Amino acid sequence: QGVDFSNIAELEVYQEGPARVDPIASFETAGLHPAMLNNVKLAGYETPTPIQRYCLPAIKMGYDVVAVAQTGSGKTAAYLIPILNQLMGKAKKLAATRPNPAAFREGVDQAVRAEPLVVIVCPSRELAVQVFTEARKFCYRTMLRPCVIYGGGPSSEQRAQLQKGCDVLIASPGRLIDFMDDTRLLTLRRVRYMVLDEADEMLHDDWKGDFDTIMSGGEIEEGNVRYMLFSATFPKQFRDLAKNHLAETHVRLRVGRAG
Ligand code: ADP
Ligand code: MG
Repeated sequence: QGVDFSNIAELEVYQEGPARVDPIASFETAGLHPAMLNNVKLAGYETPTPIQRYCLPAIKMGYDVVAVAQTGSGKTAAYLIPILNQLMGKAKKLAATRPNPAAFREGVDQAVRAEPLVVIVCPSRELAVQVFTEARKFCYRTMLRPCVIYGGGPSSEQRAQLQKGCDVLIASPGRLIDFMDDTRLLTLRRVRYMVLDEADEMLHDDWKGDFDTIMSGGEIEEGNVRYMLFSATFPKQFRDLAKNHLAETHVRLRVGRAG
């Protein structure tokens, strides 16, 4: 609680893209699902940060987004709130098409294959756990179930978690690829949103192969997926990544000076 945003609240946001994004003035006027608005309040968020003011409408409009904003500027919620909010409107329909919905409701007795709608790739275990904690707040009292997997953690426990059903998968790249190999455990065929958080961390050469595996593997249906890149800096390789994987008409948002 009590995060001090005084240093960023006034920062300007620069946008480029196919359409002008009108920033929201408040969470109350953002057209959020009542359950989401309630969760935002419960999280103690009173006003959106600059990146959030632009990201919420851009994602709602259905664009791929590249967002560059300094650490601590609220990037996690800038993608979690609008993505989860979009899914909440369709929660009933989504629940009906879940693999084995009865098992999903009852939990443990019957293992199901995880078919997440959202995948958030995080370069470190610490970040994955942080994002998971945030996602849990926003999924509270909704039909959406978040789940986190990362290397170094107990693999069998993470498998068991996944097999209870998972709508929002937060994953480190290595563990994600590991689990993607087991098609009885996980498929990316239903993914609608793919987020790379701290994407600049994943542009090093040793990650690049992993990255292509994730983007093209797991039965992803390219045309149905919105891609989001979030980062504190904008290195040159970023442009190639965006060019290769994002829709040509993506929205680019940058807070303050380029990092
Ligand atoms: P970044 O990813 O840009 O480094 P985070 O998403 O980790 O930033 O957010 C930094 C902190 O600010 C977190 O503790 C988060 O819960 C909090 N936070 C984010 N948005 C808001 C908001 N609108 N109001 C209050 N606190 C917020
Ligand atoms: Mg972050």
